[in-house]
Amino acid sequence: MKDMINVFQPMLGEQELAAVREVFESNWIGRGERTKAFEEGFARHLGVGPRHVTSTNSCTEATFIAMELAGVGPGAEVVLPTISFVGAGNAVASRGARPVFCDVDPRTLNPTADHVEAALTPRTRAVVVLHYGGRPGDVARIAELCRERGVLLVEDAAIAVASRVDGRACGTFGDMGVWSFDHGKILVTVDGGMLYVRDPELAARAPKLAYLGMEQVSGYDQALRARTRWWEFELSSFSRRSVTNDVLSAVGLVQLGRLPGFVARRRRIAERYDRGLAGVEGLLCPPPLPPGHESSHYMYWIQLEGGIRDDLARDLYERGIYTTFRYPPLHRVRAYGSDAVLPGADRAADGTLLLPMHQGLTDADVDRVVDAVRECVRARLGRRRSPAPA
Ligand SMILES: *Cc1c(COP(=O)(O)O)cnc(C)c1O
Repeated sequence: MKDMINVFQPMLGEQELAAVREVFESNWIGRGERTKAFEEGFARHLGVGPRHVTSTNSCTEATFIAMELAGVGPGAEVVLPTISFVGAGNAVASRGARPVFCDVDPRTLNPTADHVEAALTPRTRAVVVLHYGGRPGDVARIAELCRERGVLLVEDAAIAVASRVDGRACGTFGDMGVWSFDHGKILVTVDGGMLYVRDPELAARAPKLAYLGMEQVSGYDQALRARTRWWEFELSSFSRRSVTNDVLSAVGLVQLGRLPGFVARRRRIAERYDRGLAGVEGLLCPPPLPPGHESSHYMYWIQLEGGIRDDLARDLYERGIYTTFRYPPLHRVRAYGSDAVLPGADRAADGTLLLPMHQGLTDADVDRVVDAVRECVRARLGRRRSPAPA
């Protein structure tokens, strides 16, 4: 539909095009100097050393590699909040391990340390948490809990690219972190991901797992030094090919520079929604951020009483406003075979709606959404409450 306000949308323009043109003209489009520069820039943004990060072709691939590095295999359990991205669940299940889903706080949709702790067993090998909507959540306490229990913590920081607690970047609280730069995220390379690994030895293995398990990458100078032919190689694992390239990394470098501006605009949009939607009966805005927490403002969501969420989504669609819900609870996906009972997540999943949130929204767009939500909620709830006509 023309004039539809999208729920997520990237912001790419002339600067990114110029960067791509430069890569084309350089005659080296594969993984090279720009990818190295993007990794170094992203590591600086996180406040970690460049050897601890490896770029990938998606966040899902980075999560698969993280599970491999974590030694997750048959017989192991991995705890995830049921409100997780499906790729995280698949990364666990594909290794023959069992995903164990834990509940979340129905207001923040993030798990608390208590939710995670309740799901730990002697077989738990790792915990994978995300930062719902871009909010850090209980990540500091969850990291502490995992350290105490000798369980690895992997942060799915896909939507927490600029989220921090007391200045520390989300994704660096645990043992590993993964980020996404796909077409629906804030910092977009079209498709891409990043993996952070705290342990230096594991970190050194990550680039090999991302490139076919090759032990020595061919290259003339290296081959001369090692007195081998430069096209020969050895393998340390039978891995996939999960690397990115300089075309996408050039886009990423430009977007990384624009990221603070993107997030600042998103913060103002969230504040405008908060003001515009305050006091609507039957509707709750997200709770305020705790002190010291910074969100990436990836999502803006509302929570609705009276079972009107699905009807409201349809009403808004008819007015040219696209909304959605992420992430449908994984314990309800039959393929995972879970019998968990998770009332907080069920409540959140059945009453929460994501409103349009991206840095391309104008104030007028936000006001159009606010007015439509106010009117539609009032109409839906009013209709339910008014007595039946005689
Ligand atoms: C988008 C997303 C991913 C997956 O990212 P890809 O780069 O598309 O593989 C993982 N986790 C969360 C929370 C996401 O929103």
